Order: sequence, then C-alpha cells, then structure tokens
Amino acid sequence: MSIFKKFFTKEQKQTLDKGLEKSKSNFFDKIGKAIAGKSKVDDDVLDELENILVASDVGVDTTVKIINRIEERVAKDKYTTTSELDRILREEIAALLAENNSSDVKNYDLPNIKPYVLLVVGVNGVGKTTTIGKLAAKYKASGKKVLLGAADTFRAAAVDQLIEWGRRVDVPVVSKGMNVHPATVAYEAVEEGIRQNADIVIIDTAGRLQTKVNLMNELTKVHKVIKKHIPEAPHEVMLVLDGSTGQNAFIQAKEFTKATEVTSLAITKLDGTAKGGVVIGISDQFQIPVKYIGVGEKVEDLQVFNKQEFVESFFTRR
Ligand code: GDP
Ligand code: MG
Repeated sequence: MSIFKKFFTKEQKQTLDKGLEKSKSNFFDKIGKAIAGKSKVDDDVLDELENILVASDVGVDTTVKIINRIEERVAKDKYTTTSELDRILREEIAALLAENNSSDVKNYDLPNIKPYVLLVVGVNGVGKTTTIGKLAAKYKASGKKVLLGAADTFRAAAVDQLIEWGRRVDVPVVSKGMNVHPATVAYEAVEEGIRQNADIVIIDTAGRLQTKVNLMNELTKVHKVIKKHIPEAPHEVMLVLDGSTGQNAFIQAKEFTKATEVTSLAITKLDGTAKGGVVIGISDQFQIPVKYIGVGEKVEDLQVFNKQEFVESFFTRR
C-alpha cells in the first residue's frame, strides 16, 4: 500500500507511468548495476546513487540534498538493505519536495476572476501552443468559456497552429495574422474576453531567446497593454519548459525568471526522454510551482503536476 493520498485516477496514473517509462527504466538499470551483489546501503552505493541522480538530470544541488537525507537515514539505521532503497528514495524525495512552499494545484479550477488572464511564455519549440491547446480543451470540457490570443506573431505557422487548436477544441481565437506587435493581439484578446464574458483568456507568445532583450521588451509591452483593461492582469504568467532538454530547461527557467515575472511552470515532453528527473530538480530549486507536465502530444497527456504522484511513479519499478 502506498503511503500517499491518491489524487489521480487509474487512467491518469497509467498515462504518467507510461510517460516516465524511459526515465524510470534508465534510472533503475543504473541502480540495478550499482547495487548488484550488495545487500547493504554503504558509502559506495550512496556515491553511485549520487552519480545516477545527477545523470538523471535531477541537478547537482537537489541531488546533494537527497543524498544528505538518505545518508542521515542510513546512519540512524545501520542495516539499511539495498532492497529498501527504492522506498527510501520515494519517501525522502517526496518529503524534500513537500518542504518547498509551492503547493500543488489539485485540478483545473479557476479563481473567481473573470476573465482570468493567463500569459504563456517560453522559448520557441518548448510546447507553448500545444500546452495552450490542451488547456483550452480541458477548460472547455469543464464548461468554461475560453478565448485564445495568437500573440506569437513572429511566424505565420505559429498563428495558424493556434487557430487550428481553436478549431479542434471549438474555442474562439483572436488573431491579427503575423508581423503585428504581440501587444496589439494581447490587448484585443483581453478586450474580446471581457466583451464575451469569458472565464479565461490564454495568450500565446513568441520566444526568440537569441534576441533576449527584444523578447523581454515585447513581454513588458504585453503586460502594459493588458493592464490597461485589467490592472491586476495577467493573473498568471506561465513559463513552459521542454523537459527533454534536461539541464537546458533549468538554465531557461533561471534566465526567464530573472528577466520577467513568472508565476507558474509547465514542463513538457517528458515522454520519450530519460531526463524526467529535471522535474524534481526544478520543483525543488524554484519557488515557482510546477503546475502542469506534458507526457505526450494528446490532450489527455497534459497532467496537473502532483509532487507525490510524480515521485511515486518515477521511483516505483514496473
Ligand atoms: P511552441 O513553439 O513553444 O509553441 O511549441 P509547440 O507547441 O509548437 O510544440 C513544439 C513541438 O513539441 C510540437 O511538435 C508538439 O507536438 C510537441 N510537444 C509539445 N508538448 C509535448 C509533449 O508533452 N510530448 C511530446 N512528445 N511532444 C510535445
Ligand atoms: Mg507556438
């Protein structure tokens, strides 16, 4: 029996398990080799474990914290066997993440603000538009009135892609084509959201990190014009990170949070990569909550991030 309270349905758990398959098998292959022929968790095992966690993209700082916790625990109980290692890992990592003051979101409920303005930021290709499409589908399915703003006006394909998502999940999209200033689209999207009495307005943006100064100026302008309609908006600025880039996702999170206001994180593409450990590191290192994880391209592959469910899925052998 699990010690964790269950938030997920069986289907969600299966989707998560499947999405983390590569990360898990990679991790346990290495653990298997590290503890082969050993019955006790000794210094050698802990050294190996440290290397394996770092290689799994958990990040050095978070790995050190995890190893310290396990060391303390092993020191108390001199006969910790290697067969207990999976459980100890689950318990210590879950406890570590729980100490972080960011709490998990439980579902897709929106606060009592209308329209709730969600600005989505991140480097090109990380999965912003896809995540927006998935979110739009979820909100729409829960009876919410959704409006999308196509403010990635840098590439025609980006606008088309959002329009296509809008068509697919049957939500309106405010678009002005390409080459207009993103702020123009953001302004009109919020205006339209107010007019249509929408529950949520989700604004897509461009993310050309190679012109970082321009990008940040653009985002500042977007913020400014949104505030002309609703001074408290955007109510949420979500940074999307591509989990399959491992440590790169870390670097992007650091750079973006320094340069612009970010209030939530989404980590995509955890399926098909062995770098899923990055979620643990990011969740530990940043004071910004990881709200969603993407474990595939389909709508149902976007999941609300739950620390304990994630740790349990990651560190449980199949
Ligand atoms: P954007 O440039 O940030 O808007 O990124 P897109 O939304 O266009 O996504 C880039 C690519 O990543 C697309 O081919 C998406 O289908 C794919 N993608 C997005 N999220 C996921 C995910 O969770 N898993 C997988 N496997 N692919 C994803
Ligand atoms: Mg896009």
